[in-house]
Amino acid sequence: MSTASEFFIMARGEQMPTIEILVPCYNEEAVLEKFYERVSKVLDGINGCEFRYIFVNDGSTDGTLELMRELRRRDERVHYVGLSRNFGKEAAMIAGLDHVEGDAVIIMDADLQDPPELVPEMIDWWRRGYKDVSAKRRSRDGESWFKKWSSHTYYKLLQRMTDFPIQIDVGDFRLLDRQCVEALKMMREAQRYTKGMFSWIGFEKKELLFDRSARAAGRTKWNYWKLFNLALEGITSFTMIPLRFASFLGCILSTAAMLYMIFVVIKTLLYGDEVQGYPSLISVILFIGGVQLLFLGIIGEYLGRIFNESKRRPLYLISELDGKTVIKQCVIRNS
Ligand code: UDP
Ligand code: MG
Repeated sequence: MSTASEFFIMARGEQMPTIEILVPCYNEEAVLEKFYERVSKVLDGINGCEFRYIFVNDGSTDGTLELMRELRRRDERVHYVGLSRNFGKEAAMIAGLDHVEGDAVIIMDADLQDPPELVPEMIDWWRRGYKDVSAKRRSRDGESWFKKWSSHTYYKLLQRMTDFPIQIDVGDFRLLDRQCVEALKMMREAQRYTKGMFSWIGFEKKELLFDRSARAAGRTKWNYWKLFNLALEGITSFTMIPLRFASFLGCILSTAAMLYMIFVVIKTLLYGDEVQGYPSLISVILFIGGVQLLFLGIIGEYLGRIFNESKRRPLYLISELDGKTVIKQCVIRNS
């Protein structure tokens, strides 16, 4: 009789491992073909593995989906998941991960900013037993110094606030063992911060250095506002430190206010009341008001997350899967 734990052990027989290339795509018609060709060339040179592509069309408004259909006609290793609208890269990634069937998956951007030439080395490390082989940026061509500086500072800050090691300067370009994929699939939060999840799940990690080049074609979908939101997502989804900081500051301020109150009472008793101190009064009121608003905002952030999660909506909807129209959504959900 098989036990429950046996059920979770992956049967890795003698047959060749299958590695899947997962590519979230949003309006990438300008590069997708080039991407496919360059990656295929690299994959052809790798022995002892079978490959599959999983393209996720994240509600593109250009010819990306048509291009995916065309690639599938040409190459049966190509699979694609067409989402019903643009859900964002995080949702597109989990949509892809939900469709992984192989032994490992490599997540890559469609714009060739992640050099496919690194793939053989990633697979080497995976074969040596690492479960999560990620690519760490050595340089970031085509990005402003402000973007580089802010991202570095942010990761440092995030690390100080969380109690598991956060990977710095590591993007989504990585090879994940099936074990990691199954772990990530269990994390069904609606507001996703996948970068943090990779760190959170643990498993043996290996970082490879690479030079991130500029986009091959097309435009980045990120702007500072989106990046700011993502940064906030990272903090609010992995740490409650801001809330604790609010309580901490609240304690200090109320202690100080209490001491000041005692001081004012004693002073009034000793020297009488001359109705003085309007400027100090107004500045204290304004300061406390500001602090209260700030922390109301922080509490609101967390409350908003609870609100979003409590709806328990699916993370994405699929309209087309490998050429077939999807009618009934297969929703994977934690009970
Ligand atoms: N992407 C996506 N959905 C989105 C935005 C981006 O699937 O809403 C994909 C995009 O097609 C690309 C990857 O995510 O393959 C990275 O996007 P981008 O190059 O715009 O980001 P950057 O490299 O500037 O961080
Ligand atoms: Mg890019």
